[in-house]
Amino acid sequence: MEHPLFIHNTLTRKKEQFIPLHEPHVGMYVCGPTVYGDAHLGHARPAITFDILFRYLKHLGYRVRYVRNITDVGHLEHDADSGEDKIAKKARLEQLEPMEVVQYYMNRYRHAMEALNVLPPSIEPQASGHIIEQIQLVEDILKHGFAYESEGSIYFDVPKYNKTYHYGKLSGRNIDELINSTRELDGQSEKHNPTDFALWKKAQPEHIMRWPSPWSEGFPGWHCECTAMGKKYLGEHFDIHGGGMDLVFPHHECEIAQSVASQGDDMVKYWMHNNMITVNGQKMGKSLGNFITLDEFFTGSHPMLTQAYSPMTIRFFILQAHYRSTIDFSNEALQAAEKGMNSLLDAYHHIDRMPESAEGDEASRSLLTLESRCAEAMNDDLNTAMVLSYLFEAATIINAVVYNNAKATKSEIEAVKSAFERYLFDILGLCEEQGTSDKREAAYGAAVDMLLDERMKAKTNKDWATADRIRNDLSALGFEIKDTKEGYEWKLRQ
Ligand code: ZN
Repeated sequence: MEHPLFIHNTLTRKKEQFIPLHEPHVGMYVCGPTVYGDAHLGHARPAITFDILFRYLKHLGYRVRYVRNITDVGHLEHDADSGEDKIAKKARLEQLEPMEVVQYYMNRYRHAMEALNVLPPSIEPQASGHIIEQIQLVEDILKHGFAYESEGSIYFDVPKYNKTYHYGKLSGRNIDELINSTRELDGQSEKHNPTDFALWKKAQPEHIMRWPSPWSEGFPGWHCECTAMGKKYLGEHFDIHGGGMDLVFPHHECEIAQSVASQGDDMVKYWMHNNMITVNGQKMGKSLGNFITLDEFFTGSHPMLTQAYSPMTIRFFILQAHYRSTIDFSNEALQAAEKGMNSLLDAYHHIDRMPESAEGDEASRSLLTLESRCAEAMNDDLNTAMVLSYLFEAATIINAVVYNNAKATKSEIEAVKSAFERYLFDILGLCEEQGTSDKREAAYGAAVDMLLDERMKAKTNKDWATADRIRNDLSALGFEIKDTKEGYEWKLRQ
């Protein structure tokens, strides 16, 4: 395929031309949410970043299989106080089946993603549905000698692996430093080395989620699911593995180690990571009180929010930055995003009102290259911020033609319309908010009623000229007007 798409590979630390392993097919795996609570702003960024990549690859003509997993049960993210699996704890406290907790939050996550206009992935596998594949992975690693059993649990032997391969090549961490900096935690006495990580954990009696295995009744280590499910759905080698930058270490580093230890090489050609969102300069975190869920944004129901922000405002806010830069949340920044998005949507609606001139001017000529400049920005490691800045420039030109007698030709008007539709809507995935289009329609309707009321008044005053003019002008704009006993009826001609 003839296109120079370059993406930044976290592994090589540089931008590389994207060349898929099996053109025109592209396999893409992104670490999805852990569903033990409502999705927050931090979930929106990877979902939107890789939605843009998914949309753009499809726009380039690739057939993309996009796998985004759901981390549901059996992962090792334990509650800090009790050491209990978070889903198990919630299920116990609320007397629910663990799967009820999972389903509840999964539904809410999907709902939030739909509101953000994030396309559903091709496959959304759940970790709990792939225990057999994870056990197989652990067996393969054991067979190659890179793991050991200890009291019914299986651990990955990091120092042994690091003798032959390179543990730390993705994150750039040094294993000796790791050994020295790893704190001794409960249960670590089972491990031979502090850096070793669990592939399988024997379940304690109070642990609800457990599966039989050759070693013990227990549950897989968190890193296993993505290696096992990536392999199952995308094969031993696939193109892209993505996620948030916070997953580089340990999660993705461990995934590489598991893949190399089980099959001899890394499954992934391009590793991609989005940067984080900070809140007033601080990292987001429950304990910092700046942890805002997407629903709280949509309804404005968090003490840090001065108003509600629509899903499209959130999407626009995220796309205004390059995905590898941090973004800082503040009410001011979101209000600016809201304003910016509305001005682009307004400009798009104005395109149909641009009068065609025989000749344009210097500014309007740039509209002819708008689409190719947007493509160039996307090809440069998905520079959505640059695409938006080109669209803003075009918006200024549109408004100058509509309001200030600037000129544009028919082909320039067609070019700007096509570029807006392709980039603003199809690729950046922004859309008119339902509420906004309802409001717009209500305002139009009220304006037409107002004019027809004026016409009634004119008729009462026997001012036939005015009455006819209003009727003819509205008719020319496409309104069908019928006089009735009560007054009038109108509709838009189909
Ligand atoms: Zn993962």
